Order: sequence, then C-alpha cells, then structure tokens
Amino acid sequence: MEANRTGLLEGVLAAVNLGAIVVDSDCRIVLWNRWMERYTGVMADETVGRDFFSLYPDLRGKRIDSAIVQALRSNFPSVLSQTLNKSPFPLYADAAARSRDERMQQALAVTPVEVAGAGRHCLIQISDVSIAVGREKLLRDQAMVLRSQTFSDGLTGIANRRHFDVAIDKELRRAKRYGNHLSLLMIDIDHFKPYNDHYGHQQGDQCLIQVAGALSAMLQRSTDLLARYGGEEFAIVLPDTDGAAAYMLAETMRTRVIALDLPHEKSPDSLVTVSVGIATMCGADQYDVPGLINAADRALYAAKHAGRNCVQAHATIVA
Ligand code: GH3
Ligand code: MG
Ligand code: MG
Repeated sequence: MEANRTGLLEGVLAAVNLGAIVVDSDCRIVLWNRWMERYTGVMADETVGRDFFSLYPDLRGKRIDSAIVQALRSNFPSVLSQTLNKSPFPLYADAAARSRDERMQQALAVTPVEVAGAGRHCLIQISDVSIAVGREKLLRDQAMVLRSQTFSDGLTGIANRRHFDVAIDKELRRAKRYGNHLSLLMIDIDHFKPYNDHYGHQQGDQCLIQVAGALSAMLQRSTDLLARYGGEEFAIVLPDTDGAAAYMLAETMRTRVIALDLPHEKSPDSLVTVSVGIATMCGADQYDVPGLINAADRALYAAKHAGRNCVQAHATIVA
C-alpha cells in the first residue's frame, strides 16, 4: 500500500505541468521533477544532492533567496509574481527560444513543507505564464490602438473633434490658471463644395489629406494641436501664443496652402485656398470654451466676407 502511494506521488509529480524543486533545510536539492528536466535540460540525478545556489548562483540575494529563507526559517510561504520577478530561472520553451535567449515567463510559489522525520523543507513551484503574459500584452497593444483611433481622424490622421474638445478645455483652464495667452485658429477651405462637385468626392478627400499634412508640418511645438473640426474645417489650438504670433502663423499657413499648388478651376484664384479666423484670449479674460470658439468662428466668417483667402482676427479680443 505504502509502495503504491509512493509510486502514485512520483507519477503525479512527473506528470504535473509545472516545475517542482524541493530543497532541504540546508538548501540542498532533494527533488527535481520531470518538468524541470524537460525545460532546463538538466537531469534529476545531476541536481539531487547539490546546493540550490551553487546550481543557480545568479539567484543568490534575489527575492527567491529571501523567499526560501523565510519558508525554511519562519515557515512563511511566498508568491513571486511575474511582473516583479521577470523569469528568474533559465527555462526555455524549446531549442529555438534557448538560442534566442528568450526565457519562459515564470510565476513562482515558495512553500514550506514539513517532511515527517526529516524536518522542514521548501517546495519551489514554477509555472509557465508566457501565454497569459502574451495575451495581456496583446490586450494592452489593442487598447493603445483603440485609444489612438478614438482621438484621431480616420481620413487625415490628425486629431479629431473629440481630441480638440479635450485639448481646448485643458488649455483654456491652463491659460486662466497661469494668466497666459491662448489662441485659436479656425481654418476653412474656400469654395470646397464646388471643388467636390467638379473633381469628385475622392479627389476632395485627397485635397483634405494634403491640406491637413501641410498645416500639420508647420506646427513646431508639441503643445500646439491641429484638429479636423468639421468636414473641411480645421482648428488649431495654440497655447502661450498672443494675437501677433497667432496672426503670423495664420498668414504662414494660408500661404503654405497656396504653395501646395492644388488646381481649383471653380475658384476665382484657380487654386485651393483657405480662410482663417483667429481668436486670442489672455488668462484674465472671462472667456469660456464656447465663447472662444464663437469668436474664432466670427473672425472666420469675416474672412469669408472679406473675399476669402485671407486672415481675420476677432476684433474684440486683445492680444
Ligand atoms: P466657403 O468658401 O464659404 O467655405 O464655401 P464651401 O463651398 O467650402 O463651403 P460649404 O460649407 O458650403 O461646403 C463644404 C463642403 O465640404 C460640403 C461637403 O461636400 C464637403 N465635405 C465635407 N466633408 C467632406 C469630406 O470628408 N470629404 C469630402 N470630399 N468633402 C467633404
Ligand atoms: Mg469651405
Ligand atoms: Mg465649412
């Protein structure tokens, strides 16, 4: 009966899908299961009787060292998660992984075990968590892609309206808190309906992509934000920018679009052009987000009325 039981335990230890090492109170290895043989390439008869740390000198002083001491001396179990203890054992899924020095991701459990007549021992269990870690990384990557898609415009790749709403709100609060200037440009393509009607919607899309690319290339500060505000309307949030600087930038943007040299047969200028409206506030002004957008919109409307292909600043906002 006893022999059967021992045989059963040995069979189970050999079959379990995790690494099992047992060390005695002197840290000498007394058990090394088949899983360990398979993933280390080292056989039980080469390890049993050896000091654990002479086999793995790199693990001396590491968390597993104190976990073993705690188990043997104080009878405390420990769990060493993969995130804090990256792959302590040189275990490899296969020969290819070994040649790339790509260790299996490991989670460890270090448990004290009382052995009748032989005192306290310590069981070290190692499980392969590579699949779970890989799945987690995939989910994290997917979440990042989704996040960037949520905040960018599918056609032009620049920030979308949602991103703009978040940014303008944040920057307006910041301007008020520090008493800084904040400028907003509204840029609208002139005669874009006739462009679409004449050249077709697809070429209209290409035109939007090119204008967005040209505008985006002109922004130099990481805090400046170009967004697609609506169909053929762009908005630029310019923190710490007074009216004069915003006007200069708006003029440069307008001429940069002309320099794209995109033919527009149905426009009086025969080229794709833009009109720009500017609103600038100073931290002390009592503007809120809708007020600032409204001011920039009215300036844009004035630019359209002044004949298009020009820049207008909102008159009542002083730089
Ligand atoms: P204005 O000079 O006054 O700005 O005149 P406009 O013709 O540009 O203005 P309007 O607002 O009448 O027309 C905008 C056009 O933009 C209408 C719509 O067909 C087009 N549009 C909006 N979004 C897109 C888009 O994603 N792709 C394309 N190709 N066209 C778009
Ligand atoms: Mg337009
Ligand atoms: Mg428009």
